[in-house]
Amino acid sequence: MSTNKKIMVTAALPYANGPIHIGHLAGCYLPSDIYARYLRMRGKDVKFVCGSDEHGVPITIKAKNEGITPQQVVDRYHAMMKGAFDGFGISFDHYSRTSSAQHHNNAQEFFKNLYEKGALEATETEQYFDPEAGQFLADRYITGECPKCHNADAYGDQCESCGTSLNATDLIAPKSTLSGATPELRKTTNWFLPLDKLAGDLRQFLESREGWKPNVLGQCLSWLNAGDGLQPRAMTRDLDWGVPVPVEGAEGKVMYVWFDAPIGYISATQELLPDTWEEYWKGEDAEIVHFIGKDNIVFHCIIFPAMLQQHGEYALPKQVPANEFLNLEGRKLSTSKNWAVWLHEYLEDFPGQQDVLRYVLTATMPETKDNDFTWADFQQRNNSELVAGLGNFVNRVMVLTHKYYEGIVQEPGVLTDADRETLAQMSAFGRKIAKSVEAFKFREAVSEAMNVARLGNKYLQEQEPWKVYKQDPERAGAVLYVATQITAVLAVVFEPFLPTTAQKLRTMLAMGADAPEWELANNEMIITPGTQLGKAELLFSKVEDEQMDKQREKLAASVATEVESTDEAEVVHTPQKEDISFDQFMGLDLRVGTILEAERVPKADRLLKFLVDTGLDQRTIVSGVAEHFSPEEMVGKKVTVLMNLPPRKIRGVVSQGMLLMAEDADGSLRIMTPEHGAESGAIIG
Ligand SMILES: [Zn+2]
Repeated sequence: MSTNKKIMVTAALPYANGPIHIGHLAGCYLPSDIYARYLRMRGKDVKFVCGSDEHGVPITIKAKNEGITPQQVVDRYHAMMKGAFDGFGISFDHYSRTSSAQHHNNAQEFFKNLYEKGALEATETEQYFDPEAGQFLADRYITGECPKCHNADAYGDQCESCGTSLNATDLIAPKSTLSGATPELRKTTNWFLPLDKLAGDLRQFLESREGWKPNVLGQCLSWLNAGDGLQPRAMTRDLDWGVPVPVEGAEGKVMYVWFDAPIGYISATQELLPDTWEEYWKGEDAEIVHFIGKDNIVFHCIIFPAMLQQHGEYALPKQVPANEFLNLEGRKLSTSKNWAVWLHEYLEDFPGQQDVLRYVLTATMPETKDNDFTWADFQQRNNSELVAGLGNFVNRVMVLTHKYYEGIVQEPGVLTDADRETLAQMSAFGRKIAKSVEAFKFREAVSEAMNVARLGNKYLQEQEPWKVYKQDPERAGAVLYVATQITAVLAVVFEPFLPTTAQKLRTMLAMGADAPEWELANNEMIITPGTQLGKAELLFSKVEDEQMDKQREKLAASVATEVESTDEAEVVHTPQKEDISFDQFMGLDLRVGTILEAERVPKADRLLKFLVDTGLDQRTIVSGVAEHFSPEEMVGKKVTVLMNLPPRKIRGVVSQGMLLMAEDADGSLRIMTPEHGAESGAIIG
């Protein structure tokens, strides 16, 4: 890296149709943040941008489902995602959004540039049209069977199971997600990027890149080398949500979201640096690094570079260090199935502990293959590595220095061999960690940073200043001097990984609040004798089993409420019963009730006896649910009561009515409970 380089670090624009989770953090936002923080400490001229990706079909689907406008959807999630990034200390220089006027103008300029050069080809194609909804269907509105791996739920643009990018017409047995209808093909004109003709330039670009991760380069070359090669790809869509296509004859069409989203990096830079943004994107000194997850490789390594090459004024990405996927407790993270640890919920459940998640996710980052996040691992790493390792070392140094020397760092006098050896080892870590970070090996880097704390603990354990002090207070002062230098190295090298913790350390060591220069870690003396240390502050606290149980219960609950279980098990449905008359239906008296008391029925393993407030009265109902629910968990629950069933004596108890339950194919029961807000006595029907 020469000193005049202008380094642009981008993190994939998160899609504004839901909150973000640990997979996003581990896949893209942590590595990009670590890298940007490190470069700043090296004094590099770096800018770090991102923003919400607010166009595309899934947002229109969500808006439709919720009966609100797409703008309302993206406003909600833009705020939520920005809050989560702030909460985890992701240090963007600017976080923008693709619905901004700046971005619309910029994306339209870019499109016009390619259009006027003739780089886009107008092509009339047959597109799927939903005859029931009366509109052309974007690829995401169509599902069907993947022709490659035969996953039944592939989307019209991509199969999420095997990663193949698709055209909707490739799907076997396509279906409209709007109406469920089988779509029909109709003619429409759209503008295509002729990737087939650009393959030679793309190959040259890819083959000239240095130090790319094999998983990224391998995937790109496999697309280029595939039998049928790259295919032209439509850059416009028949849709009303997005950046309008600024050319004649394109009324009612918007840009393909993957055309405008990467341009969003440039728009964000323009907003940040209206006068000098070009220095970071054009010319010899511009060095662009895109951090993404592996599902975005095709867009950042094929389509966007092809767009930039056609435009001609921009530098091409130097690095695209894509990560693989993070799984959660052995299963694929899923937004739709709520199988996720949401960042905004983590911040509520673990206040002030953002660095713990940053640490665990960096230590288990899916850099070369998919990796698994478990709460057991989270607890183990927190308790043994952060609390017992890093936290304990720092705490001993601080507490002993305050206890023996009123917090003043002592003159070391004549150093022993062990001291010199320890200081030499300590001052070598900075270069080692730097090498790992520059190679995008963040797991290795954070593990080396933790080795600094291990070195410190080992040194204290061997030197035992708490024993030495009684006979030789000067020697104990020298030991604590060495240990204080190790603490200072920790305050430097942990800054990119655990910024909140590193800042606390610097405050304790009177090093100032700002991130220090990275090179400081290469010294053997960072804190000079005579320095007055600040107050000792506890850095980490133990995570208890109950907290982990709570998180696991949360996940279990999301499995229990899973509506679509098509990929889990075949559901066998009981055939429909014979018709009843409307009058028979109207004869049912169904009301919302609240369970006031619950107890087991003696000598009856399956029965629970409830006292239920029905609004009309308080009545006793006996139900055969004791194998599924405990009495304690039922109290206070809202239930659905069938009121006008004749009273029946069950095991000596008169039961007046019935509680309605849903029974799954596996025999498990769910209480039929009103969504929220319904009062006891509310009539159902
Ligand atoms: Zn597939």
